[in-house]
Amino acid sequence: MTVTTALHPDLLKESGQREVFCGLTSIVWLHRRMPDAFFLVVGSRTCAHLVQSAAGVMIFAEPRFGTAILGERDLAGLADANEELDRLVGNLLERRPEIRTLFLVGSCPSEVIKLDLAKAAERLNRQHRGQVTVLNYSGSGIETTFTQGEDGALLAMLPLMPTPEPGQNHDQLLIVGTLADAVEDRLRTLFERMGIPRVTSLPPRRSTELPPVGPGTRVLLAQPFLSGTARALVDRGAELISAPYPFGVEGSAAWMGAAAAAFGIAPATVSAVIDPLVERGRRAIAPHRETLAGKRLFLLPDSQLEIPLGRFLARECGMELVEVGTPYLDRQLMAQELELLPAGTQISEGQHVERQLERVRASKPDLVVCGLGLANPLEAEGIATKWSIELVFSPIHGCDQAGDLAELFARPLRRRQLLTFA
Ligand code: SF4
Repeated sequence: MTVTTALHPDLLKESGQREVFCGLTSIVWLHRRMPDAFFLVVGSRTCAHLVQSAAGVMIFAEPRFGTAILGERDLAGLADANEELDRLVGNLLERRPEIRTLFLVGSCPSEVIKLDLAKAAERLNRQHRGQVTVLNYSGSGIETTFTQGEDGALLAMLPLMPTPEPGQNHDQLLIVGTLADAVEDRLRTLFERMGIPRVTSLPPRRSTELPPVGPGTRVLLAQPFLSGTARALVDRGAELISAPYPFGVEGSAAWMGAAAAAFGIAPATVSAVIDPLVERGRRAIAPHRETLAGKRLFLLPDSQLEIPLGRFLARECGMELVEVGTPYLDRQLMAQELELLPAGTQISEGQHVERQLERVRASKPDLVVCGLGLANPLEAEGIATKWSIELVFSPIHGCDQAGDLAELFARPLRRRQLLTFA
C-alpha cells in the first residue's frame, strides 16, 4: 500500500515486503559495549547464522552471545522447551561465572513466540539469584528492525535503574545510546569542560552500574532509534533534550549546544569549547566534499540513521537527496532533523521493496545506502552502494569524526570512478 499523507506533503508511507535486518543484529554492538553481559538468542538455526555472520570473526574469539536453538523436538511440548532453556542457562553460568547480566533475546520462529521469555527470565532470576540478573527482550524480525533491538535491550534494563532519593540533587546529563568507548570519553571530556557536573551513560560499560533516573536527569539521545527508551525515561521523571543527532559538524555542535543550554551554561563558554572542533571538523570534511558535492543520493530504510545522515550529506557535503527512506518516522525524536532537511526532500516511511527499487532504477542515483541484501544486486546493476550496517558499527559521532563519516560515503564513489577509468 502506498499513501501520501497530509501531515507531511513530502512523506510517502509504504508497506509491503521489506529488506531489513531484524533486531538480533544489535547484539553485535551491545555485547561489545557491556563485556560483563551475555546475550542468549532463543531462536532457530537461521538466527544463529545471522548473529554469527553479522558478528564476523568475533564468534571465534571469546563470544559473549550464543544461541539456544529450539527445534522440532521442542514443539512437542513447552515444558520441554523451558527445561531445555533452564539446562542451557545453567551450563552457561557454570562455564562463565563472570556473566553479570544475561539477556534472553526472543526471535520469530513460532516455537519461540509460544515461549513466555518474561516468565522464563523470572524463573531463572529465582534460580540464580545473587549470581546474575536475567532480562528479556525481543529481537524478532516480525516486531523489530535492525536497530530497534537496542531499544528493547535498554527498555529491559530500565526497571533496574535506581530512583534518586527525594531531596537529593541528581542533576546529570544521561547520554542514551551505544557509543564507541573512545568517542564517549572524548564527548564526556568536552561536556565536563563546558561545566556539566555529571555525565552518565545508558547502556553503561558495566551492565550492573546503571545510573539513577528521575527529576534532574536530562536525557540526550546519541542514537535516533531509541523511541521506547526515551519515553520510558521521561515517564520516570527525566527531561528529554530536543536536538539534532551528533553526526557531522553541524549536528554534533547543535547536539552539544542543546545539552549545555539544558544546564544553563553560557553560550560563550560553549563556543570556547566547540568552535575549535567545528573549525577542525570542517577542514576534515573538505576533501571528501569535493567527491560528494552534486552527487545524487538515495537512502533505503534500514538503520533508522537515514534522516540525520541525509541531513549531514546534503548540508555539509553538498549531496542531492533523491529519497530518504526510514523504517519508521518518530516525529518527536526527528523534529529538529526534519527542520534541517532541504525543503521538498522526499521522505519515505516503511518499505515496499519492489516499488522502492523501481524508483532507485528510474532515478539513477550516484550512491545508494542500503542493507547488505540489496547492495550486491544493485552493484551488479552498476549502482554504487554503501552498507548501512557499517554506519552503526563505525565510530561516527561527534565533530572529530565528521571527516571519517564523509569519507565512508566518498569511498564507494571514488572506487567506482577508478573502476570506470580502469
Ligand atoms: S529473529 Fe526472525 S528474522 Fe531474525 S534471524 Fe531469527 S528468524 Fe530470522
